[in-house]
Amino acid sequence: MNTEELKKLWKDVMSEIELNISRANFVTWFKNSAIIEKTKDTVTVATNSNFAKEWLENRYNKYIKKALEKLAPEIENVIYKVESIESIQKFQTAIEEGKKPEVVKTKKPAEQSESLSKIAQDPNTNLNSKYTFDNLVVGSHNELAHAAALAVLDNLGSKYNPLFIYGGVGLGKTHLMQALGNAFRQSNKKLNIWYINTEKLVNDIIGAIREQTIDTVKKQYKKLDILLIDDIQFLANKEKTQEEVFHIFNTLYDANKQIVFTSDRPPKAIPGLEERLRSRFEGGMVADISLPNYETRVAILKNKLREKKTNLPDEIIDYIAQNITNNVRELEGALNTLLINFEVKKITPSIELSKKLLEDFIKKPKKMVTPNDVLKLVSAFYDISVDKIKGESRRKDLVKARQITMYILREVVKLSYPAIGEVFNHKDHTTVMHSCKKIEEEKLKDSVLNQELESIIEKLNYDVFN
Ligand code: ADP
Ligand code: MG
Repeated sequence: MNTEELKKLWKDVMSEIELNISRANFVTWFKNSAIIEKTKDTVTVATNSNFAKEWLENRYNKYIKKALEKLAPEIENVIYKVESIESIQKFQTAIEEGKKPEVVKTKKPAEQSESLSKIAQDPNTNLNSKYTFDNLVVGSHNELAHAAALAVLDNLGSKYNPLFIYGGVGLGKTHLMQALGNAFRQSNKKLNIWYINTEKLVNDIIGAIREQTIDTVKKQYKKLDILLIDDIQFLANKEKTQEEVFHIFNTLYDANKQIVFTSDRPPKAIPGLEERLRSRFEGGMVADISLPNYETRVAILKNKLREKKTNLPDEIIDYIAQNITNNVRELEGALNTLLINFEVKKITPSIELSKKLLEDFIKKPKKMVTPNDVLKLVSAFYDISVDKIKGESRRKDLVKARQITMYILREVVKLSYPAIGEVFNHKDHTTVMHSCKKIEEEKLKDSVLNQELESIIEKLNYDVFN
């Protein structure tokens, strides 16, 4: 059989199976699958994770066989195999998306802000004028960081230097940092201000080192009065760049020039950060931004509506604020989706329609993931008992499973290092940190490990939402 025939066969098999199992299960377990080989009486079904392979083999084998009996009666055996997604795709007919309510798509927030920022970005400072203190809603979640920024505005370079702001994704770090930059700009046009994201900074520095222009670049930085570096966690494990950043930082700092950093985590938790940089970061003011509470979420929504000179019934605002709880960017995204749909379709906003339109945003409430859930998953995946994972043995495969469990507890379940230590018979938190760092580094080098991690995390997410 040629590739097209294999595709057709698997497509027909899937059509049969689809009738018998739930849509969610079907999409989850069959989306990355294909028949990649057929001999006289055997087909090989490939999928891209151990979990999917297990599920197909153990749960759906009978459906697959039944369908094959009908479609290709010569088949007696089905072999299941894990393959890379690229090799599967060659043989794959994509699963069609289920029927979703027709939603006019807003651009993804990232694209949105990018196209906007191109318009509003000041080439002299890299600042975007849409971020101001005026349109930043202050609540208990960000009042400390906000107050620190205002103090910096009044005491340039002298009060809190550096100012280090950290908090989760989409909680307003960039907004606050840029609002500060814009306010400086307003107060004194002569100030030399520069905003840069760390990913860009790293690329610039690497490029400059390669092209031997690093001295020129450094000179430019040293002329600044205010340097705003966003998402400094991207400096993790980049030794050479850290070195250069350290020099720029020191020169500015010694000249009482103001530096502000943001990060998605506190300095302590950035892996592979040189000690001297870490202690410099911690030497000024460290302020966090946490999740906005319900009242603040409502205030943010109302603020955005005012900006757009429009309004929505309180019931709908309340629905969004109740259901989108952990990210201001998503809050904005949900609001934009509603506004655009109501506008395009010229319909009166209703709560029923809002619920439909926001189905994509509002997932089912998450079940709590316990450390035990993770232990069991890792145990099932590597076929190693939970006791052994938790144990003390230094056998290589056991250490790996142990470190992976710790990593997932940290990165996905968001447990603190000491709390993870507790799970592992009161291990010291530095051991846990070391393990997490190790996996963090290994997964960059080891694509198999990376794939395994993804499979485990995907399964964990699947369990949480079903
Ligand atoms: P982060 O940098 O923390 O990932 P951003 O600063 O990019 O988050 O914020 C995401 C979006 O949410 C932006 O459009 C921002 O204007 C908006 N936003 C975040 N916090 C607030 C707030 N407190 N008031 C008003 N808008 C906010
Ligand atoms: Mg940001």
